[in-house]
Amino acid sequence: MEKIYLDNAATTALRTEVVTEMVAILQNEYGNPSSSHSFGRSAKSKLELSRKTIAQFFNVSSQEIIFTSGATEANNWILQNAVEHLGVKRIITSQIEHHAVLHVVEMLQKTHDIQVDYIKIKSNGTVDINHLVELLAQDVSTLVSLMHVNNEIGTVTDLDEIAQICKQHSVYFHSDTVQSVGKIKIDLQKTPVDFMVASAHKFHGPKGVGFLFVRKGIIQKPLFYGGEQEKGIRPGTESLHNIVGMAKALQLSYENLEAEREYIQNLKKYTIQKLQNHFPEVQFNGNENQTFYTILNVRLPLDASKSAMILFNLDMKGIAVSRGSACQSGSPRPSHVLEAFLDENDRAKPSLRISFSHFNTQKEIDVLMEALLTL
Ligand code: PLP
Repeated sequence: MEKIYLDNAATTALRTEVVTEMVAILQNEYGNPSSSHSFGRSAKSKLELSRKTIAQFFNVSSQEIIFTSGATEANNWILQNAVEHLGVKRIITSQIEHHAVLHVVEMLQKTHDIQVDYIKIKSNGTVDINHLVELLAQDVSTLVSLMHVNNEIGTVTDLDEIAQICKQHSVYFHSDTVQSVGKIKIDLQKTPVDFMVASAHKFHGPKGVGFLFVRKGIIQKPLFYGGEQEKGIRPGTESLHNIVGMAKALQLSYENLEAEREYIQNLKKYTIQKLQNHFPEVQFNGNENQTFYTILNVRLPLDASKSAMILFNLDMKGIAVSRGSACQSGSPRPSHVLEAFLDENDRAKPSLRISFSHFNTQKEIDVLMEALLTL
């Protein structure tokens, strides 16, 4: 049975060139980047070259990039640093953020007694910017945390618009850009975001590595303590093979961006068409023509009783899609994202997240359609 992987918002397959680069580092660059001898210096130069490569894609300086174990850690650092060291007394966020933001905000609300306001979500799954402006009328030291591309439904937040609004109100702006980094260009000189995060495994790089961007001049304190690595903010011996692999994956993603985007966009259009042909009453969570090109969240006009078994049945046929975030896929609870804007009736219908990469083909979509028709 040929397996079909359509869960690229959960994680992506590594590019061969990334694996080759990582193996070379594992074999040859075993020096500790903090050692002063030639082995260490060589590793350090690879580390700093990776930082420079990553920084240049976002038009920022290398000093503004800090390597982490991934986006969960990076989001934790940003939100905790903001409350503990930047005097932030209120966080404005939304109910459709990833749990790597929502659960940290909930924890900070309990432990630091901060104010938390949630921006309204419109029926198309996007955040209500007017509500954000209304909330910002209250004069309190604030951080706004809104993701760029929603990982479950693919709705897109206009980073430029929100960043400008935050700047006008002199509040910090953090964006979880995990689903968009490597898939769209972001120029941080033009878009005044203060904090941004990324995770290599979402753009065909290795797992367990990511980075955070912190705009120059913002106070940075560690989340945990140890050595002097990453300016002491993120101590611990750097995972060099992962970091070099991440830089390579990002470089390849941006070098191939136009062609791969067009290919994936066409594949998404093809999928929408096929779904509409086979299931005339199909609906999509988020406007399917405006959601990000890698993600399609479909609400199937099938009996609610089929919801529970649908992923299992597809998996039996070798097809990997998901219900929502991978971290929640074992949970019987409905998706917190869909809960934020769908009524009870629509929530009961089976919703599926199909997420694409340039490795997918139309033939795979045809196989998925056949499988859906026999559910
Ligand atoms: N934020 C978003 C939007 C995600 O999709 C994910 C991935 O699951 C994360 C954060 C967590 O990233 P990581 O796996 O690097 O901790």
